[in-house]
Amino acid sequence: MKIKDIIKNNNITVSFEVFPPKQWDKIEKTKAIVDEMTKLNPSFMSVTYGAAGTTSGFTAEIAKEIKQQGVTPLAHLTCLTSTRDKIRSVVSEMKNDGIENILALRGDIPENFEFPDEQYYEHAYQLIEEIHSLGDFCVGGACYPEVHPESANRVEDINHLKEKVDCGLDFLTTQMFFDNRVYYNFRELCAVKGIDVPIIAGIMPITNAATVSRTVKLSGCTLPVKFEKIVERFGDKNEAMKQAGIIYASEQIIDLMANGVNNFHIYTMNKPDVAAKIVGCISEIING
Ligand code: FAD
Repeated sequence: MKIKDIIKNNNITVSFEVFPPKQWDKIEKTKAIVDEMTKLNPSFMSVTYGAAGTTSGFTAEIAKEIKQQGVTPLAHLTCLTSTRDKIRSVVSEMKNDGIENILALRGDIPENFEFPDEQYYEHAYQLIEEIHSLGDFCVGGACYPEVHPESANRVEDINHLKEKVDCGLDFLTTQMFFDNRVYYNFRELCAVKGIDVPIIAGIMPITNAATVSRTVKLSGCTLPVKFEKIVERFGDKNEAMKQAGIIYASEQIIDLMANGVNNFHIYTMNKPDVAAKIVGCISEIING
C-alpha cells in the first residue's frame, strides 16, 4: 500500500524505523527484531540506507521482511555517493520486490568528499525526479524544523524544501526535535510557503545518556532545559533514564496530537521493547 493513502483523511499513524545490519550474517537477527516490531501493528515501517550505499541490498531485504509480515515498508535511499546507473538498478530491484514507498535522501557529505561529475546527484530533488521517472512510487523526503546544518539560514532552507516538495514529494518526515514548539513554528512556516504535504513528526526516544551529545551533535537539534534536567538527574541510572526517555517521547506525541498532529514516526532504533512501551503509553490516545 502507498503511504500517501495510509496517511490521508487525517488518519492517525504511528510508524517505526529500523536499520539494516552492516554485515550479511546479522540479517536474520535484524529480521527477528522486525518481526517483533510488526506485531505492534505500526502504520508502516521504514528501513534506513547505509551511508555509502554499500549495503543497499540489506535495506531491500529488510523491507521485504516487513512486507512479508503484513506491514507496509518504506525503503530509504540516499544518492550522493552512488552513480545514476547504480540508483536506477536499486530502484528497479525495489520495484521488482513490490516496494512502493521510498524516502528519497541525499545522504550526508563524507569527509574530504569532492562532488564528482554529472553521473552523480548533488541533491535529493534530483533523486526524487529520477524515482518518479522509473515507476509509480510514493515518495517521501526529509525536512529539518531546526534548519539543515548546511543551510546558511532558514529562508534558504525553506526555499530549497519548497523546490524539493514541488519535484513530487507525497509527504515529509522531520528530523528529530525535542521541543514541540520547534515543530509548530516549522508547520506554520511550511503553510506560509505553500508546502501542503503531510509533515510526519519524527520522534526520537532518548533512552541512554551516552547517546545524547552524539545525537544532538549529528542532528543539529537543540535540547530544551526540561530534557537536560532529566539527563542530569537520571543519566547515570540506565533503567531510570530509559523510562524517562520513553515517557518524554510519549508526552511529546500526546502534546502534538492535542495540537492537531496526526502522523508520528518513532526512531525506534531496532529496540522493540522501546517501541512497545511507547505504544503502551499512547494506545488509548491514538485509538480515541
Ligand atoms: P537535500 O534535500 O539535498 O538537502 C541538503 C542540503 O542542501 C540542505 O541544506 C538544503 O537546503 C540544500 N539544498 C537542497 N537543494 C539545493 C539546491 N538546489 N541548491 C543548493 N542547496 C540545496 N541518511 C542516510 O545516510 N541514510 C538514511 O537512511 C537517512 N534517513 C534519514 C531520514 C530522515 C527522516 C532524515 C531527516 C534524515 C535522514 N538521513 C539519512 C540523513 C540525510 O541524508 C542528511 O540529513 C543529508 O545531509 C541531507 O539529506 P536531504 O535528503 O535532506 O538532502
